[in-house]
Amino acid sequence: MTFKHLEERSAYEERYDSATVERCRSIEDHFLSPEIQQKGLSDGRGFPDWIMPLQIFHLTGERYRNRKETINERMEKDRQRDAMLAQTRPPFMRCPSCGQPMECVDTSLKYGFEEGERDRVTFFLNCKECKEVHHIYENGTPIPRKPLLCEKCGKEVEFSSEERDGKYYYIRTCKHCGHIEERMSTLDEEEKNPTKEELERFERDKKRFCISEEQGKRFLEWEKRMKQIDDQKEEHLLNVELYDRVKEVKSLTIASLEKKLRKVLEKAGYSDLQITMPPSGREIVLEFSIRDTKDSRKDLESRQTLSETIEKALEMTNWSLYPESVTYRLGVLNGRIRGYESQEELETLMRSRMKKKPKKKKSEGMTVEF
Ligand SMILES: [Zn+2]
Ligand SMILES: [Zn+2]
Repeated sequence: MTFKHLEERSAYEERYDSATVERCRSIEDHFLSPEIQQKGLSDGRGFPDWIMPLQIFHLTGERYRNRKETINERMEKDRQRDAMLAQTRPPFMRCPSCGQPMECVDTSLKYGFEEGERDRVTFFLNCKECKEVHHIYENGTPIPRKPLLCEKCGKEVEFSSEERDGKYYYIRTCKHCGHIEERMSTLDEEEKNPTKEELERFERDKKRFCISEEQGKRFLEWEKRMKQIDDQKEEHLLNVELYDRVKEVKSLTIASLEKKLRKVLEKAGYSDLQITMPPSGREIVLEFSIRDTKDSRKDLESRQTLSETIEKALEMTNWSLYPESVTYRLGVLNGRIRGYESQEELETLMRSRMKKKPKKKKSEGMTVEF
């Protein structure tokens, strides 16, 4: 019979809640430990005593927030695993020794644990004649058998199992050095029944840490308000920076703009700048043409260098280049530049520049002289 993954929803809920209790308990154990308790603040406010409830508050809220979705995801994953096992048929294979068709004795899943790694179905095929078992993937690729090694001499051991006093043991016997290793099945280890006190403590902790729907809703409300406050703070800071920048902007006339551009562009190897102002609507748009004096510079490189040089020169002015407007033909480049007049337009321009270059360090542009 094939192992079935999907269980009742309550089983997933129980596991999720136990994990919540475990995690909250470990916070308490940490903060209530003598080493941490001694690190109180000098004014008498013990810092572990106010950090601990905060951490628990956040964790219990977060566990509440993700509970339903996490459980849905886990159930969906198990549902998919079962479907995968049910749909896949073992590949047909002949025994490499005698040539008889082999029979599938077990189907199982090899779980993908790493990110992006998928589960894969594997089969154990058996040859009745030769008693040979092969472990393979769906496409017939063999899965290499990992030999069990002796912890003393490192040679391969023989494996057996045994039941004693209602418990299950795995035994590894080494024929080379005679060493015997015995381990109790971890399933048996885990199945120690909890005592009455442990059960009562768990129920108490579950009430404290797995918060009710009402408490959970209050947490979500609180979280939303905190986020709004953060957003407002950020928006406010952005605006403060924006107004600072707008104040720093130099408003250039067309003549000063031309002078500034001619200077930096000549340095970058372009000459003969021509600027015209076509009759336009509401916006001030200038058209320009310029020649590239460097023969070695071709289309794309020439356009990029020109755009970068112009954008850098105009960074703190009321003018900006339309980068996509720059064209190149046989060493002549054309493009368009837009001018901004009103305060409102300037704010829009600077806001978009700040988005491209988010942080402006206060120290930038300052030089220290000795
Ligand atoms: Zn065979
Ligand atoms: Zn050995």
